[in-house]
Amino acid sequence: MARDPTHFLRTEYEDLVRQDLDWKMRVLSGPSTPWCQVDGKKVLMFCSNNYLGLSNHPRLKEAAIEAIRTHGVGSGSVRPIAGTMDLHVELERRLARFKRAEASLVFQTGFSTNAGLIPQLAGDGDLIVSDELNHGSIIDGVRLSKADKAVYQHGNVEDLEHVLAEAEEHRPSFRRILVITDGVFSMDGDMAPLDRIARAAKGHGAMVYVDDAHGEGVLGEGGRGIVSHFHLSRDDVQVEMGTFSKAFGVVGGHVSGSKDLVNFAFNKSRTWLLSGSHPPPVAAACLAAVDVLEKEEEHVKRLWSHTRRFKKAMSDVGFDIGKSETPITPIIVGESRKAKELSQKLLEQGVFALPIVFPMVAKDKARIRTIMNAALSEDDVHFAIGAFERAGKELHLV
Ligand SMILES: *Cc1c(COP(=O)(O)O)cnc(C)c1O
Repeated sequence: MARDPTHFLRTEYEDLVRQDLDWKMRVLSGPSTPWCQVDGKKVLMFCSNNYLGLSNHPRLKEAAIEAIRTHGVGSGSVRPIAGTMDLHVELERRLARFKRAEASLVFQTGFSTNAGLIPQLAGDGDLIVSDELNHGSIIDGVRLSKADKAVYQHGNVEDLEHVLAEAEEHRPSFRRILVITDGVFSMDGDMAPLDRIARAAKGHGAMVYVDDAHGEGVLGEGGRGIVSHFHLSRDDVQVEMGTFSKAFGVVGGHVSGSKDLVNFAFNKSRTWLLSGSHPPPVAAACLAAVDVLEKEEEHVKRLWSHTRRFKKAMSDVGFDIGKSETPITPIIVGESRKAKELSQKLLEQGVFALPIVFPMVAKDKARIRTIMNAALSEDDVHFAIGAFERAGKELHLV
């Protein structure tokens, strides 16, 4: 009898289970609010990307409901044919204003932005230079490109300079060079030295593309992102990419920059051209999120005051919190087993924060990754600090 051609599906899955590398899905019943129901248990959410609590903001919810009433639940098409509604256009206009860019283009997701745009910005005869710890969606975008590829050591501008100089020496004929980096790296919460990266790129006539998924709504003036944080201009960083799925609390991706960039991007990116556009409630909720960020400064301020308080408490307790400069605070404990035990203890105490273990981080750098949320009250932050302290002591980690 012929062998079952789908046999590998089960064996490869079972391999992952054996190594404890499979994903166990946690289920939220109800909204992603600070106190939420995870697998039936009431816990304090400490690992969502919903930095500002906007996913449950009344203005976003009302905007989505109203848009269903006025525009329906689907757009009916891809953007270039019949799927561009006034809501999409207004969202792009308002986002560009918020980002202080000439223009913005909204994609379905951040992933599809990177996967669709990167291979167009650099192709045959070009070079892409990428930080070694860039996000998987950048890696896939780079793989889809026919450009030559080079990687520089994480956050290391000297190494970037070296790669750029070598590129000039060995192949003076690259048409274009594109330097790509995450703005904030999500495993450690560290920031790319974007000012120095931009300077290095400029010295070699290269473009800079920053993926600010974890910086928008968090860094810079009123949450305008890492370009604002470093006081850089469009002349320094030509391509600013972001997502609506994190601090903006909804879903979607975007690229912001010059009008030329946006005209180029929407005429060429296949993920934008060939995939259905956002349903009206999504576009309307994203639009409301931009509006909330412009009008209600308190969310970003509270995010940072909670972050400072939590980081100080964790290092006072004696945890290794790495070198984070953002509301992502890793609690580094070493072995995978310890991180899993800590996560379990925290859950028992009512705090939901997942372990991040090899292969996502080095074998001896397993951690609990916490992400602060502006929607937490002072009491909630106090509660979380107490839970970490008790769990850390019980497991002899501090
Ligand atoms: C989350 C994330 C993305 C993907 O964004 P989505 O809009 O959720 O698809 C891309 N890049 C980075 C750095 C991210 O953290």
